[in-house]
Amino acid sequence: MYERSQQVETLALYVDGQSRAATGGGYFDSVDPFTGKVWTRVPSATTEDVDLAVRAAHRAFTSGPWAAMTPTQRGRLLYKLGDLIDVHAEKLGELEVRDNGKLLAEMLGQMRYLPEWFYYYGGLADKVEGSVTPAERPGMFHYVRYEPIGVVAAISPWNSPLVLTVWKLAPALAAGNTVVVKPSEYSSASMLYLARLFEEAGFPPGVLNVITGVGRETGEALINHPLVERIAFTGGEAGGRAVYQAAAKSFKRVSLELGGKSPNIVFDDADLDDAVRGAVAGIFAAAGQTCMAGSRLLVQDSIHDAFVDRLVAFACSAKLGDPMRSDTDIGPIATRPQFEKILSYIAIAKQEGATCVLGGGPASGADLGAGLFVQPTMFTNVHNRMRIAQEEVFGPVLSVIRFKTEDEAVEIANDTLYGLAAGIWTQNLARAINLPARLKAGTVWVNAYRVVSYLAPFGGFKNSGIGRENGKDAIREYLEAKSVFINTQRGVPSPFVMRLPSVE
Ligand code: NAD
Repeated sequence: MYERSQQVETLALYVDGQSRAATGGGYFDSVDPFTGKVWTRVPSATTEDVDLAVRAAHRAFTSGPWAAMTPTQRGRLLYKLGDLIDVHAEKLGELEVRDNGKLLAEMLGQMRYLPEWFYYYGGLADKVEGSVTPAERPGMFHYVRYEPIGVVAAISPWNSPLVLTVWKLAPALAAGNTVVVKPSEYSSASMLYLARLFEEAGFPPGVLNVITGVGRETGEALINHPLVERIAFTGGEAGGRAVYQAAAKSFKRVSLELGGKSPNIVFDDADLDDAVRGAVAGIFAAAGQTCMAGSRLLVQDSIHDAFVDRLVAFACSAKLGDPMRSDTDIGPIATRPQFEKILSYIAIAKQEGATCVLGGGPASGADLGAGLFVQPTMFTNVHNRMRIAQEEVFGPVLSVIRFKTEDEAVEIANDTLYGLAAGIWTQNLARAINLPARLKAGTVWVNAYRVVSYLAPFGGFKNSGIGRENGKDAIREYLEAKSVFINTQRGVPSPFVMRLPSVE
């Protein structure tokens, strides 16, 4: 059984290879969502700290050992880091649970998988190849090369702090950029710990910098810094919009991974045991605090009532409790604002006339410590135009929507501003093959839910974001293409007319 340390640890920023306090000397608290007690003090980075971090990253990008390194050497550093993460996985997992209250089993799984990103992108570092284009006019030699962009600002949320940061870090560094990370103010500890592993792996100072603080201050100072050229953001719609606007002001390159209201569609030809487990995985795992939550369950009319009964019975058996315990299924809600938001959506669903068939409020009990728990909650009689079916709750609240035909399922599934993910449960082979193409979602699972991989591009259609993380093309998101023309003949033709090939 994991024993929480009672000592309140004070964390330090990581800037230019140094761990230190914020210039203003300020701190804010991070609360353990299960105990409700402050467990760590996090430095409140000022605009000056942001500037120091970005300048350090810029220096490391433009001069010094990182700038001079070959891609193969960069790749080797990434492998080393992967090995170190593997050694420290347990510690990193524990830090994340103390910050965000998600299950230790889940966070440990994430940490043990994390090295793969560094191995994969470490391997890709020296496989970014330019090209020589066919000669199209005499004496003109043309090739394309790919170059790193510069200083990358990586901003991440609290729900899977390191995984979502590493999705940015690994390709950005493999491509030769330098990075300033701003983790969520609710989950800074694991990233600051990881920074020390960068140092141990031998990354030169300034290649990775970590500044901590709230989005509205530290985050905004970072995205608006003139030396930041690329922003990689994961978070909610408001932050995403602020980042997009800041990026537009100075044409920064940007990728956004935002929210979702993903449909999880159960057809009457599905293996219903699997579909029940898939529906639970979609919404009650991580207490629904995941961007890809299958928060709209579309169930075919002919099996609707029986399926809902089975789902309620299964969900009732989920054990709420201490996320550090191996027998806990659902942990607390990570933050008070999130807890209040979830309860407000439960109230909205009730006002809208949806029928609550499971849960419907906060949970309390001897096993729940001082945590903010929400009961697994299910609404039926949900119409897709209701707010509970359109807006992201980010909690264990499921909206069940009936459909009759496949066409109707597709129409409902796509009738949302979001487009992050979708699930399909069917044993019909043709449907399994044909339906993914009709859904407006960046990831579609068939007879599965909540599967991600470093190999598989991840990102959103519509309001769920811009750009893709993971997969081999993600490294291109951190590179600029450059065309080089070399005239191999003497003599420049008429300087007043653009040089074009003859088209006879
Ligand atoms: P959030 O937007 O409040 O915060 C995310 C990060 O952005 C934090 O580090 C925060 O400090 C920073 N931030 C907030 N406002 C900012 C601003 N104006 N300028 C600069 N930085 C700012 O999101 P959250 O509550 O931490 O996370 C939950 C949200 O993240 C949900 O909407 C969820 O769907 C989304 N999310 C998306 C994905 C994905 O891959 N698509 C993954 C996980 C979470």
